[in-house]
Amino acid sequence: MTELADRRLLLVHAHPDDESINNGATMAAYAAQGVHVALVTCTLGEEGEVIPPALAHLAAEHENTLGAHRADELAAAMKELGVTDHRFLGGPGRFRDSGMMGVEQNHRAGAFWSADVDEAAALLVEVIRELRPQVLVMYDPDGGYGHPDHIQAHRVAMRAADLAADAGFRPELGPAHEIAKIYWNRVPRSVGERLFAELNEHAVAGLPWAAAVLDDVPGVVDDDRITTVIDGRPQVARKAAAMRAHATQIAVEEPWFALSNDLAQPLFDTEYYELVRGPSGAAPGEREHDLFAGLPFDRPQPHSETDPETDPETDPETAPDTDSTTEER
Ligand SMILES: [Zn+2]
Repeated sequence: MTELADRRLLLVHAHPDDESINNGATMAAYAAQGVHVALVTCTLGEEGEVIPPALAHLAAEHENTLGAHRADELAAAMKELGVTDHRFLGGPGRFRDSGMMGVEQNHRAGAFWSADVDEAAALLVEVIRELRPQVLVMYDPDGGYGHPDHIQAHRVAMRAADLAADAGFRPELGPAHEIAKIYWNRVPRSVGERLFAELNEHAVAGLPWAAAVLDDVPGVVDDDRITTVIDGRPQVARKAAAMRAHATQIAVEEPWFALSNDLAQPLFDTEYYELVRGPSGAAPGEREHDLFAGLPFDRPQPHSETDPETDPETDPETAPDTDSTTEER
């Protein structure tokens, strides 16, 4: 067992590719800072549509081998982001992609949408109690845009956070751990509107796609709900590379990308969050710029094992008390 880093960030996603689109810059930034970044993906994305014609044979309606291919794409994407801890909930293939809302695959045996929430949450409790993250990132209750697996990922992650903190729940899964801060993925409406205006007025003519609309973007909310902004501009090339690694799902023409619907949308170089549980590290009326803001290790903590020998000259416990020896005049 290797010792865990001081700061630990856990992200829960529905399918391979969601993590790079939503949080790629954030993940790369924290991994580069030495934070333990862990990703739990709930399904292999077996029902995804395949963009490159040469790989169309992988799709569920043909060879049905897309899941294993997407696991490889995810591994390649994590390499681009510098993230080494990525897992599938309950192991690869434990839960299957449920497809879009309303299709018959929603109710197939093993579909994530039909999974028992507490049963799936227990699998995540084990991860939470092992890694003891201070920060958890997930979708909002609508899954950002209503996909059944995204909604279920939200439910499972919120439930797991509660159960992990309950010492009476499955003690054999490890000691109870309360996650200090929980965030939902967000996009501020004003930023989305500005980027779509730019897309429509200047960029789309030079792209191989038509333009999507803001409603196609998950997690868009009014600006006042945004609590936290991660400036990912230094990491945007790595984010784009991670998205490109998901080649069956994403085509990238920086700073734009398209999913299998062939509609261009912005590749966000800044990522936005809504803090829904835990202390804000921002001054009133301000936004946070660090998911760990307000937590005790805001600044690097001294490591007791590497501290120099306690110096009696400067140690307040043993240094002469100058106040008491100063004579009053
Ligand atoms: Zn997804």
